Amino acid sequence: MKLYSTNDRNKLVTFREAVIKGISEDGGLFMPLSLPKMPEAFFERINILDLQDIAFAVSRTLLKDEIPDYDMFGIIRRAFTFTAPLVNLGKDKYVLELFHGPTLAFKDFGARFLAETLSYFNKDENKELVILVATSGDTGSAVANGFHNIPGVSVVLLYPSGKVSRIQEQQLTTLGGNVTALEIKGTFDDCQRMVKQAFADEELKSRVRISSANSINIARLLPQSFYYHYAYSQVEDREKGVVFSVPSGNFGNLTAGLFAKEMGLPVHKFIAAVNSNDIFPHFLQTGEFKPKTSVQTISNAMDVGNPSNFARIYSLFGGCADSIKDVIYSRSYTDQQTQNAIREVNEKSGYLIDPHGAVGYLALNDYLQDNPGSYSSIVLETAHPAKFKDIVEKSSGTAVAVPKNLEQCLNKIKRSTVLSNEYDALKSVLL
Ligand SMILES: *Cc1c(COP(=O)(O)O)cnc(C)c1O
Repeated sequence: MKLYSTNDRNKLVTFREAVIKGISEDGGLFMPLSLPKMPEAFFERINILDLQDIAFAVSRTLLKDEIPDYDMFGIIRRAFTFTAPLVNLGKDKYVLELFHGPTLAFKDFGARFLAETLSYFNKDENKELVILVATSGDTGSAVANGFHNIPGVSVVLLYPSGKVSRIQEQQLTTLGGNVTALEIKGTFDDCQRMVKQAFADEELKSRVRISSANSINIARLLPQSFYYHYAYSQVEDREKGVVFSVPSGNFGNLTAGLFAKEMGLPVHKFIAAVNSNDIFPHFLQTGEFKPKTSVQTISNAMDVGNPSNFARIYSLFGGCADSIKDVIYSRSYTDQQTQNAIREVNEKSGYLIDPHGAVGYLALNDYLQDNPGSYSSIVLETAHPAKFKDIVEKSSGTAVAVPKNLEQCLNKIKRSTVLSNEYDALKSVLL
């Protein structure tokens, strides 16, 4: 697979180069030059395939020139040790549960595939590789878990102090071993800026081998396209168009859905569901992309004021806002609406949805109201409700059971280093 930088279409790299670099030297994001269509037979028989089968079929189609089948199969087997069930809420409405991985959020899919792929590409190197990650909560723990105990690799996490939940903080700071947690006195956007600065710092890069594992890394995105196919395979009536509602922050998840569609998955519409950080719906309305400082919400993994994958979406559609509008619908919701939705889903279906999924549910309802038709509609449930226990219980009036591995994590000792939000502070830690 050849990839270009969103800042320069003429400079092509291999998948291996893109994965190791994370981001292009010109600051652009890597994008596949083309996404081949999956064969007809794949979609005809998709209902007999499980998640691993689908992951293997899709990644083979994309990467057979760079990773031999037997290595690819090993990567998939080790990365996807869990599945993604589709739960029927009634009336052709489904929830795709993406929280069955070790950190109970969908980021396990991307992070574990990336960890396996990077360690595969890194196996002949003798200098340690440092994975640098800015996280608004869930990315960091998924990445840290994916790389935990992988030889030749260490992980440095940056997270905004006081702006992640206690559970998220415990998941970020209790792994130890090759994982270091930096608690930044600032916002997620500060953390993201510091990481971007590190990747632009030639002097640093001459001394430390760094790589990113944020949603900007292409190996985080590709595996997220697998579960869109898998969701489709589990729908009862595949003849109806499928609509996906995607709770969005940095728009990696949504971009992966667009990849699946490019590869032939029959998707009628994507819904970009956002909280009060409404940059994207504002763009669809006005054609103007205006990043803002992020505001804090109860769906905090989506508190992003400058969605990094916007550049990819924009580039995929050749910079045409109208074409983007044909494929993506977008709406923004307040915390109050989100809490009401948690209650409503529980009342109507007896299902406990987390605040991120609840934003997806709201946007789906609005879409279906604006566009009456007969679709199978799927909300991506991106996190386990127990990760946001207080809010979910308060909103629904129902107790949330805490999974055992989360319970254990909560009892461990937090280890973090507090840092200012200036780049030099990060640089000295890395050196
Ligand atoms: C990261 C995250 C999101 C947002 O995903 P993007 O790919 O950044 O748009 C949504 N929900 C949860 C629980 C997350 O952790």
